[in-house]
Amino acid sequence: SPAASCPKVCIVGGGPAGFYTAQHLVKTRPDVQVDIYERLPVPFGLVRFGVAPDHPEVKNVMNTFTQTAQHARCSFHGNVSVGKDVTVQELQEAYHAVVLSYGAEGNRTLGVPGEDLAGVHSAKDFVGWYNGLPTNRDLRPDLRCETAVILGQGNVALDVARILLSPVDILKNTDITQPALDTLAESSVRRVLIVGRRGPLQLACTIKVRPRKRLTELLLKVAVETPEETELERRNSAKRAWGFRFFRSPVEILPSDDLTRAAGIRLAVNRLEGEGEDVWAVTTGEVEDVECGLVISSIGYKSLPIDPAVPFDPRKHIIPNTMGRVQKCAGLYCSGWVKRGPTGVIATTMNDSFDTARTLLHDMDEGTLDISTVKPGSAGVTTILEKRGVKPVLFSDWEKIDSEESKRGEARGKPREKLLDVGEMLKVAWT
Ligand code: FAD
Repeated sequence: SPAASCPKVCIVGGGPAGFYTAQHLVKTRPDVQVDIYERLPVPFGLVRFGVAPDHPEVKNVMNTFTQTAQHARCSFHGNVSVGKDVTVQELQEAYHAVVLSYGAEGNRTLGVPGEDLAGVHSAKDFVGWYNGLPTNRDLRPDLRCETAVILGQGNVALDVARILLSPVDILKNTDITQPALDTLAESSVRRVLIVGRRGPLQLACTIKVRPRKRLTELLLKVAVETPEETELERRNSAKRAWGFRFFRSPVEILPSDDLTRAAGIRLAVNRLEGEGEDVWAVTTGEVEDVECGLVISSIGYKSLPIDPAVPFDPRKHIIPNTMGRVQKCAGLYCSGWVKRGPTGVIATTMNDSFDTARTLLHDMDEGTLDISTVKPGSAGVTTILEKRGVKPVLFSDWEKIDSEESKRGEARGKPREKLLDVGEMLKVAWT
């Protein structure tokens, strides 16, 4: 049949990179079949588990992804962990091409003494906790302290600061999980310091209006302008406050007297060397101690190797590739954070995924990617998974989870109340 002989592509990872790659492939080539394999029973990656609950407009991309998943030549198979339930080599045998879009699930560590104390968390875990990532369900951060220190000054750091300081009245109608909302309602955190190695001109966070000049103007305005009276009054009466702390690097997390948890942080005071874009921080020898009961390190995510058969750059933490072609591996491609590193917004990931799709289609057209043989596609993989006792969650199964979550959310005035447990997700999906 024509379907049996059509080009078959599979994608590993059901986040933005996976969905945008699939979208471009099915839209551009009328005969290609694309199957997405995702470890979790639920799709959308960091759009569901990363993007802050008080930024619902960002999550509208899920509608576009849903359209792709419902395309006649696209399918979604959740609850399949590639590298464990099925190997990359097995996928390569079943498909003409495999695209690795599995994101960046590791995080960079601080490498300072005291990092393992209670009260010290990575932003990745903290974000996963308030967004309902099953692995972070039991994080239960202790928020009974006045001051929190966030290390790193990127957009994720700002998300975390906002969630820590926002009145729960603002958060209660978002899709933040109920346990997180309950914990935040009891929080004693009043002050959040967002610490960066370098200065205001090197700030890593961005604003919607792109140019750095605009961001610098904004910072200057806040720093030097005296606000008008009502604004001054508002600021002086604020119960909660935050601020950037520039030119500081963590040296050590200081323990409480009984050595059980974090009670402060020692920061080295830095100065800058170099010029223009190319400046770096060097320590001055001076240190400063800040009392705090919560330390959140937000110094970046990193990709992890998925399978010994796939090359991995252990220094850059990405899959080495040229325009999305995995180096020295015919038929293997990559897109998204695992291709270029964990930076950039969803739109950056979209462009980069379209690029990979274009590369792949070009290789099909040129014949450097062999599509002349008949491949079994998902039928082959399903047989392998069945033998291993793994049952995929299809997109229609996810829709059951989705409507259950919406139903539970409705009762609380939220867009959804996320299921937090994989077992429960599977139960809802298959009944
Ligand atoms: P991911 O979104 O991480 O998707 C990877 C997928 O692969 C996941 O679903 C994962 O479960 C799956 N996977 C992993 N391993 C396997 C495996 N072995 N087998 C099968 N599947 C696997 N961008 C914006 O534009 N606006 C924002 O407000 C915004 N907020 C953000 C907040 C946070 C905290 C973070 C971390 C990022 C944010 N971003 C935001 C950036 C955006 O989320 C990324 O650009 C985008 O998600 C990267 O897409 P990806 O598909 O490469 O990775």
